[in-house]
Amino acid sequence: MVKTKAKTKATASNLPTRIGFGWDSHAFKTGIPLLIGGVKLDYDKGLGGHSDGDVLLHAITDALLGGIAGPDIGTLFPPSDPQWKGADSVVFLQEALRRIAAAGYAVANLDSTLILNAPKIGPHAAEIRSRVASLLGIPEDCVGLKAKTPEGLNNDNAAVAHVVVFLTKSRRKSPSR
Ligand code: MG
Repeated sequence: MVKTKAKTKATASNLPTRIGFGWDSHAFKTGIPLLIGGVKLDYDKGLGGHSDGDVLLHAITDALLGGIAGPDIGTLFPPSDPQWKGADSVVFLQEALRRIAAAGYAVANLDSTLILNAPKIGPHAAEIRSRVASLLGIPEDCVGLKAKTPEGLNNDNAAVAHVVVFLTKSRRKSPSR
């Protein structure tokens, strides 16, 4: 039998970069505000959910948490907990940012795709990108945002968000000598 050489176990703190992926979906409901990426859009329906239903901020939060292999948004902020009813999703995002900073990482860039039938995102894309960039503390040209209609998916009453984030070792948390 051939003996294999034991490999040195890599630790997370040795990784100079990490990637995270997040996904979320919410159904439209009449009579509630529509929030996407922390921006309130003028529309006759909003996204339902236990919190404010911000599908993009939820996917970004999960992408950040996934990047450091942390617990997901539903574990940190369970829908069964009444304190998160109607919560501002910025609170979730800020907790994810706190956790990646504590792990020694910073956000380098983010890319996202929204899938929804209406409203059209194009006219609001610049404002959403600007808001997300501000929340993450990164330049606007490091926030990608595409919008697609759900053709062939029979999914006209929901909004879906896909997000990837790229994390790099934070200069502030560089290893001490
Ligand atoms: Mg959600």
